[in-house]
Amino acid sequence: CVACGECVQACPTGALSPAKAAAHQPADKTVDSVCPYCGVGCQLTYHVKGNTILRVEGRKGPANEGRLCVKGRYGFDYVHHEQRLTQPLIRREGVTKNPVDLLDPDQVNSAFRPATWDEALALIAGRFKQIKSTHGGHALAGFGSAKCSNEEAYLFQKLVRTGFGTNNVDHCTRLCHASSVAALLEGIGSGAVSNPVMDVNQAEVIFVIGANPTVNHPVGATWIKNAVKNGAKLIVADPRRSDLARHATHFLQFKADSDVALLNALLHIIIEENLIDREFIDQRTEGFQELKSNVASCTPEAMSSICGISPAELRAVARLYATSSASIILWGMGISQHTHGTDNARCLISLALITGQIGRPGTGLHPLRGQNNVQGASDAGLIPMMYPDYQQVCNPEAQKRFEALWNTALSNTPGLTVVETMQAILAGEVKGMYILGENPAMSDPDLNHARKALAALDFLVVQDIFLTETASLADVVLPASAFPEKTGTFTNTDRLVQLGQQAIDPPGQARQDLWIIQSIAQAMGLDWDYNSVEEVFDEMRRAMHSIEGITWQRLQREHALVYPCAHEGDIGQAVVFTEHFPTPNGKARLVPARYRGAAETPDLQFPFVLITGRQLEHWHTGSMTRRASVLDAIEPEPTALLHPEDLKALNIKAGNTIRLQSRRGKVELFARADTGTPPGHVFVPFCYAEAAINKLTHAALDPDGKIPEFKYCAIAVHKK
Ligand code: SF4
Repeated sequence: CVACGECVQACPTGALSPAKAAAHQPADKTVDSVCPYCGVGCQLTYHVKGNTILRVEGRKGPANEGRLCVKGRYGFDYVHHEQRLTQPLIRREGVTKNPVDLLDPDQVNSAFRPATWDEALALIAGRFKQIKSTHGGHALAGFGSAKCSNEEAYLFQKLVRTGFGTNNVDHCTRLCHASSVAALLEGIGSGAVSNPVMDVNQAEVIFVIGANPTVNHPVGATWIKNAVKNGAKLIVADPRRSDLARHATHFLQFKADSDVALLNALLHIIIEENLIDREFIDQRTEGFQELKSNVASCTPEAMSSICGISPAELRAVARLYATSSASIILWGMGISQHTHGTDNARCLISLALITGQIGRPGTGLHPLRGQNNVQGASDAGLIPMMYPDYQQVCNPEAQKRFEALWNTALSNTPGLTVVETMQAILAGEVKGMYILGENPAMSDPDLNHARKALAALDFLVVQDIFLTETASLADVVLPASAFPEKTGTFTNTDRLVQLGQQAIDPPGQARQDLWIIQSIAQAMGLDWDYNSVEEVFDEMRRAMHSIEGITWQRLQREHALVYPCAHEGDIGQAVVFTEHFPTPNGKARLVPARYRGAAETPDLQFPFVLITGRQLEHWHTGSMTRRASVLDAIEPEPTALLHPEDLKALNIKAGNTIRLQSRRGKVELFARADTGTPPGHVFVPFCYAEAAINKLTHAALDPDGKIPEFKYCAIAVHKK
């Protein structure tokens, strides 16, 4: 049982029914929408009475066919939580920002006073304009959110670019798949997936690496398990043994941080044994000779000592992947969150290209997107070096196009990324920030440093639904709308644009995010006059060729449309790169990668490896799921997962309080025994504010993707 509640939905007799009494009441109405959590993008239906959501049911969407996981089905009552922000707040005079002891959401009145919207908006516009006129637009920055709708993301980046006058706009894609996107853009000219998750049904071989879909993309994982049941071969490669490994034909528990060694060995075997697709390489790629010479010395025997997988197993896996009629690769943040994340992804791209396992149903490359709209927020331009649709800000043609569309002169200097922004604040270069729906005071690496930076800002505006750790460091806090309180489009991991529809009203004076962004823009003097979500979406269609054929009317009718979608009658392309790649010459580029280790490795003082990630019941920094009563009841407390052998050696029992410490910080939490975590390693979810594990993580960045190394740093474990 994974508490998905599927049995409750399916039970034909009523013997099983929703557990909460409220769920038995008859609903006034039902509203079709989408799940607010992960990138799978399951469609669901809200059952609503008055302004209260009674329960949630899965409905038949292209990605879920009626299925939901525990988060989608039971993680909805955070919207009714007593800690919801219901009025604008302004920091009281003389109350300093304390980056060490963050404010408890229940103590909101001690640091902030209520304000009217007029007062808050006037203050925000006045301070942002003052910073801009004194220090220039580059002294301002904005973080949007992968939980924003496409329309909110689009307007947010437009405000930063046209109102602030800078490209300093980013969001948490920087912390999840920035390196995958960098490698994909470089290699095949597109940062999105080539095939939908559902294509596992048409694959002969499914290769899942650096991902734990049963936890992070649970409904996606059910399709993988179904495919295996129907005869597909599954290869799972991960330093941690996940639940999915039980279903694998081959499980490669390779040494953490040795991804490139493992993958170069597979490339070597495929080339050495002539399992390549010569025609595909000749016609559709370039750079094969460089790749071949790069992996010439990467024999399975040589790489085995680095990655810990036997040469025989490496050979078996390479042959299986290369010779199948259709092989698909799915990967997660185990690949991307390294200082060599881009190199890891380069190797995966090369695997698909040299074997011709791309451009057909059941093949291809699929970086599993984390948050519900991380794909859409990136597409919409919440990226410091790109306008919407991945058009480079330093490309004069793109600059001209957006200057004409937005009727404003634009900067052609790429902006700062998430971690670079924190460094720039401490260097005195960035002085004001607008943060919408992100919680960098929990999600950034080396948190003590990040919190110090946020507290050092001259002026910080945070727009959110709760007083998050980041909001507690703000000068102005704006009460926003939760997912079921607004309408907008969201793009899932499959490039599927789906319609989320408003089911209830925001509480008190909380306002819809689109209204707030537009009000700030207008207060800053921008000539904006959007009267509906539809109007914003229509402008996006003019800015982004990829979604030109997706009209609002089609979305209302069909609820989900895949892009690229060129014109109104186009059904869109679920599988891309069938004929050519979207590169200048239509060919993909094979980019060699050399093995190099993590930025910080264990030593005598800090002998364990820390791996961070998510757990099934909680999402991201936990601001929503920890306030969802069912999810909080299942997983209420922070835990660190260690191998039983390590617990025994340290004389720690499961349930004991332990202290984890790195060179940057320490936290205390409970120990949990986990045979899936290899000895010498500790896994900790990053959703618990009381044990914020990112205090320990390392802010070293991948040079291309600028993504921090969340998946590897050195720590010590002490019994309390
Ligand atoms: Fe929501 Fe993802 Fe679960 Fe589907 S799999 S219900 S999208 S969290």
